[in-house]
Amino acid sequence: MKRNGRPWRKLLLLLGGGLLLAVAARVGSRLVTADAIRPGDRGKINVFVSVLPQKYFVERIGGERVSVTVMVGPGQNPATYEPLPQQMRALTEADLYFRIGVPFETAWIDRLQALNRELIMVDTREGVALREMEQACHGSEAETADLHAHGHHGEGLLDPHIWLDPLLVKIQAETVYRALAAFDPGARDYYQANLARFHADLDQLHTELQATFDRLKVKTLMVYHPAWGYLADRYGLKQVALEVEGKEPGPRKLAQLIDYAKAEGIRVIFIQSQFNSAAAEAVARAVNGQVVSIDPLAEDYLTNMRRIAQAIKGSYDTSGESN
Ligand SMILES: [Zn+2]
Repeated sequence: MKRNGRPWRKLLLLLGGGLLLAVAARVGSRLVTADAIRPGDRGKINVFVSVLPQKYFVERIGGERVSVTVMVGPGQNPATYEPLPQQMRALTEADLYFRIGVPFETAWIDRLQALNRELIMVDTREGVALREMEQACHGSEAETADLHAHGHHGEGLLDPHIWLDPLLVKIQAETVYRALAAFDPGARDYYQANLARFHADLDQLHTELQATFDRLKVKTLMVYHPAWGYLADRYGLKQVALEVEGKEPGPRKLAQLIDYAKAEGIRVIFIQSQFNSAAAEAVARAVNGQVVSIDPLAEDYLTNMRRIAQAIKGSYDTSGESN
């Protein structure tokens, strides 16, 4: 992680002339302490993140010392998102950007960094073992075309949905903690205490999810967009996606999926609001089941993950009754 005199330069920008001289004299060549970055709108650490769950993660650790802005807002798709002009302007004032690896970053991160050379870019994939996606491609059509052009098709892309496993979120939280503590070292203890509490909550969530999923007899999770690979890996589920290379399946593939769903006794196809899917409706109709929406991108992370676990459990309970 990058660490240098940037916070000090930021602070200089925040301070008026006389005060600036006084503080400069006091601080001398030392790194600026957190006490010098007083909370207050201008004084908060200005943080950007890509997706909403990350906003929750950073706020859990940064608390009142951070102001977090999210790039991909509610209902928007992190595969195809394009930052708004006002977001680009706001980024020129940002201190830290926590990226996570969602597809839009690939196209935009360099441009965002170019807008603000002082922006500290932190990659929260650090320390996370990335899985390959079952489907070859993920993301927009443009991205898919690009991948084809580069000959990566079929080799397996790395799955960006690393926030959907609570134990991987512990690693991401640790990265956020280290970045904030390095940027604002005077508040290290505060961040560390927040990290400990967040870790405890994630452990608790993990224990609950494990108990929920362990009891299931059916372990297949049929979804439109394959966002749930890390969750499935962690809890012994099998994710089967309808989406093929970022698009709806063709008729032959759809027929195969319907056969599969029938054979497995699947009654629920999970979708998310960021993607429309006629195929999900078609499979659900064919198995006399239903389409249920679960949101991988909700900000209220702990509650949302519990809700998702219950929705998955509920879908199997239904299939159990009808068999
Ligand atoms: Zn996705």
